[in-house]
Amino acid sequence: MKVLVPVKRVVDYNVKVRVKSDHTGVDIANVKMSMNPFDEIAVEEAVRLKEKGAAAEIVAVSCGVAQCQETLRTAMAIGADRGILVQSDAELQPLAVAKLLKALVDQEQPGLVVLGKQAIDDDANQTGQMLAALLDWPQATNASRVEVQGDRVQVTREVDGGLETLSLALPAVITTDLRLNEPRYVTLPNIMKAKKKPLDTVTPESLGVDVAPRLKTLKVAEPPSRAAGVIVPDVATLVDKLKNEAKVV
Ligand code: AMP
Repeated sequence: MKVLVPVKRVVDYNVKVRVKSDHTGVDIANVKMSMNPFDEIAVEEAVRLKEKGAAAEIVAVSCGVAQCQETLRTAMAIGADRGILVQSDAELQPLAVAKLLKALVDQEQPGLVVLGKQAIDDDANQTGQMLAALLDWPQATNASRVEVQGDRVQVTREVDGGLETLSLALPAVITTDLRLNEPRYVTLPNIMKAKKKPLDTVTPESLGVDVAPRLKTLKVAEPPSRAAGVIVPDVATLVDKLKNEAKVV
């Protein structure tokens, strides 16, 4: 079985982003970029499926600017066999990415697509769901355990107050949650090996996909800064303030 893993290049999770002065978005010039953390978990899971003999080939896909090649090389250093870059300088919204992935799924015919549950830059949490809908495939989101059993896959999901276990017929779409696994460290020999793995570049046009944005960002703003606190002289004043000012008791 072939597994397709979409990996997004995002601002590194350690970076504190700054809103642009014109409020059109955040400033990503000269900012460290990395693979979306949930996508690292997706690649790791695909590699584990391959190690268990449930997957035969892992194809990593990234949609975006030329530098997404670095993200694909990281995926290949973790263990993906090859990469496909869908190169575009346009803003790619989740629906556009889902359509690009659908076109690649039609070409590659994977048995499983494993995505992150959300990209930490836009926090959309949409692409996997939209892809499953476009393909008319079963989907299991927020997976914390994945087990391929013949022509089905069993997925455990963390839901409010417990765990839900689903059995899906393959081919299927899965999105990863934080506790699915802990991605392995990328070693230098594997980084070197990844440089030799095949990386193809295609474009939205060559896939016949219109990636024109459907949503318009009206404004991006910093969260309001926190007001200064006060020191209360005694418990009675604290209770009075909680009752009459904050109105929380
Ligand atoms: P989102 O719906 O934007 O929160 O993204 C959910 C998941 O879709 C990500 O974790 C990736 O696996 C995948 N994805 C989103 N955008 C891209 C992209 N530009 N290239 C590759 N994969 C993407």
